[in-house]
Amino acid sequence: MSKPATAAVGVAPQRRPVYLDYQATTPTDPRVVAEMLPFFTEKFGNPHSEGHAFGREAEEAVETARRQVADLIGAEAREIVFTSGATESNNLALKGLAGFYGEGRDHIVTVATEHKCVLETVRQLEREGFSATFLPVAADGLIDPAAVAATLTGRTLAVSVMAANNEIGVVQPLAEIGRICRERQVFFHTDAAQAAGEIPLNVGAMNVDLMSLTAHKMYGPMGIGALYVRRRPRVRLAPQMSGGGQERGMRSGTLPAPLCVGFGAACSLAAAGMEAESRRLGRLRDRFLDRLRARLDGVSVNGSLTARLPGNLNLGFAGIGGENPIGRLPDLALSTGSACTSASLEPSHVLTAIGVEEPLIRTAIRFSVGRTTTEEEVDYAAGRVAEEVEALRRRSPA
Ligand SMILES: *Cc1c(COP(=O)(O)O)cnc(C)c1O
Repeated sequence: MSKPATAAVGVAPQRRPVYLDYQATTPTDPRVVAEMLPFFTEKFGNPHSEGHAFGREAEEAVETARRQVADLIGAEAREIVFTSGATESNNLALKGLAGFYGEGRDHIVTVATEHKCVLETVRQLEREGFSATFLPVAADGLIDPAAVAATLTGRTLAVSVMAANNEIGVVQPLAEIGRICRERQVFFHTDAAQAAGEIPLNVGAMNVDLMSLTAHKMYGPMGIGALYVRRRPRVRLAPQMSGGGQERGMRSGTLPAPLCVGFGAACSLAAAGMEAESRRLGRLRDRFLDRLRARLDGVSVNGSLTARLPGNLNLGFAGIGGENPIGRLPDLALSTGSACTSASLEPSHVLTAIGVEEPLIRTAIRFSVGRTTTEEEVDYAAGRVAEEVEALRRRSPA
């Protein structure tokens, strides 16, 4: 084979930036990759080919993975439907409910700070004749369970509230909302893409009927996720894809066995290490904030600091004229929090919903640490952020 064209002449090898964007995606854990590899090559069977050993071998591996995913959230294996990720799971949950039960139950309740794939799904259902309530959140990013209860009517089909927010990391009171939904016989869906593997989740204790998961936010591969679909009491969904009727008729298509295996392995690893890792991430997160505040005044934390994922911070900086420091920090892989913010200059709908004002909203940085983050990286990052914010302040008219 010839040399790859990217080994360009005269380009000095660059040091890679410090990765602090684990809420956008996580690296696939090497232990997960090792589990996956045989399923690309020697164990390549179609898991739906039951007639021969190749198929059965792949099928067994997929069913083991299904049990591993189920175990992470206190579900039964047969309640797990594999999908391509949380976007598909959220679409299947809400459009699937609407398609099956929508006749007469045409009201959906969700929250202003949900991920775009939930908000856009609900808006699509509105265009099809459903009515929707987009609940506001308090300044700390949390919703009030009593406000959920107050919106429910005899026509309400479902409540969809994310477990943890992808921008500000706040963790919603799922158990309280679940109890209300169960009492009122309304389906409860939660987008747990950010929370799964990071904090304990239990579909039984939380009365969750549908839960969306994705592997690539928890050290598994991209392109695989799951939807938990409760069996008792039974939740039914109209499939969104026509085909061979795989996944108990809810999601047709050949299951990607290597990805399923990787997702399962990622769930097992996350469950085994959750407690210790959660404490470690919390310490790294606090260390970053302490170091920053030791050098800088006017650093605000967006969203509750207590009801929050251990590895997340979302910060605003006063006195820098609304400029975002990320532009001056090419050595740090940080995010403004929402994928569309930088491209469209549209302020984050999450920060808008919690009442962050201009020009502070434009200064927001989402900082997220993960499995491979070290203390040295956190200290370096805190120093660099402080340095660039100080530089902006010297330049900015007081
Ligand atoms: C990443 C994310 C999604 C989308 O998940 P994909 O698997 O990338 O489609 C949905 N919701 C939340 C909260 C997320 O963080």
